Amino acid sequence: MTLEQVRALVRPNIARLTPYSTARDEYKGTLGIFLDANESPYSTGYNRYPDPHQKALKQRLSEIKGVPVESIFVGNGSDEAIDLVFRVFCTPGVDNVVAIEPSYGMYAVCAAINDVAVRGVALGEDFSLPVDAVLAACDAHTKAIFLCSPNNPSGNAFAREDLLYIVRNAPAMVVVDEAYIDFCDQPSLRFEVEKEPNLVVYQTLSKAWGLAGLRLGLAFAHPEVIARMSQVKYPYNISALTQKTVIKALESPIDAQVKEIVAERARVARELKSLPCVLKVYLSQANFLLVKVTDADALYDLLVSRGVIVRNRNKVKGCAGCLRITIGLKEENDQMLDVLKNFKV
Ligand code: PMP
Repeated sequence: MTLEQVRALVRPNIARLTPYSTARDEYKGTLGIFLDANESPYSTGYNRYPDPHQKALKQRLSEIKGVPVESIFVGNGSDEAIDLVFRVFCTPGVDNVVAIEPSYGMYAVCAAINDVAVRGVALGEDFSLPVDAVLAACDAHTKAIFLCSPNNPSGNAFAREDLLYIVRNAPAMVVVDEAYIDFCDQPSLRFEVEKEPNLVVYQTLSKAWGLAGLRLGLAFAHPEVIARMSQVKYPYNISALTQKTVIKALESPIDAQVKEIVAERARVARELKSLPCVLKVYLSQANFLLVKVTDADALYDLLVSRGVIVRNRNKVKGCAGCLRITIGLKEENDQMLDVLKNFKV
C-alpha cells in the first residue's frame, strides 16, 4: 500500500484535527521561570508536567530497537496503542476491522467501545493463519486487520512471509501485535514499517522486560502514522515517573531471564505432556503454554484451591478444554505441576 492510500484510510475528522498544543510545545527551553502551565511552584519531584513527546525515552528505545525515533509511539501500555488505531482510522458505526480468533481480547473490546464491527476469522488447524480468509474478510469499510504473533492465547508465531503477504495485499492498516516477540525465535517485523506504511507493530515492556506495573507499550509505524497517533493521544499519556523509571530499567539486560523462561517453557511442556490429565500442549513461542486438558473447569478450580492461578480459556472460541499457563519461576512451575500430577482423571 502506498502512503497516499494510508492517508486515505484516516478518519476525515482526524485528518482535519487541530491537536492540543501543550505549554511545553509552545516554549521548548528547559531553563527559566515557568509560569505557563498552571503548575505548582513547590517542588514535590513531580510538580512539573512530563515531556509530552517522551524524547529521552524514545531516544533510548530507538537505540535499543534500531528504529528511528520518528517511527516510535509510546503509550500507556500497548492497550493505548490498540485503542488509538480505532480512534485514528475507524469511523464509529460505519467502519469495521478484521481480527483473528482466538486472539487477544482487547481488539474486540476496543472495537465495541468505539462502535466498530469486528469480522472474526477463525484460525485453522493448530491455530494456523488462514491468510486468504483474512484478506477475503475485508470490504470497503475495513480499516484495520489485527494479527498477533506470537498469538495470545495459542502461543504460536505465524510465518513472516504470511504476515508480510497480508500487509502487502490488504486494503487496510495491518496491526501485528508482538507483545511476546522476545520469547520467539523469529525476528520482529518492526524493521519493515518504513517500507510498508500500512503496517503497525506493537510491542510492550510488560512481558520480557518485567515492567507491567509501569505501563509502557510501543508501536512502530511509518512516521506519518506515528504522527497521527501522537495527535490523538492524551497530551501527557506517559507519567514522569514511568518515563524516568523505564529509562533506568532499560539499562539492565533481559537476555538471561528470557533464556531461562524459554528453557522453563520447554521443561514444563515436556512434564505436562506426561500427565494423564493433559491431552495436548500447543507449541509456544511465548511465555505461556496453552494446554488442552481432560476437564478444564475442574482443573482450574483445583489449581485455585491450591493457590495456583492460571487462565481458564475453556469458554473462548477455539480453546474449548484449554488452560493458559504462564511460565513462572521454576519453583512456581513445579508447584503447578504437582497439583496437576495429583489430579484423578
Ligand atoms: N497484546 C497482547 C497480545 C497481550 O497479551 C497483552 C497483555 N496480556 C497486551 C497486548 C497488553 O499489553 P500492555 O501491558 O502493554 O497493555
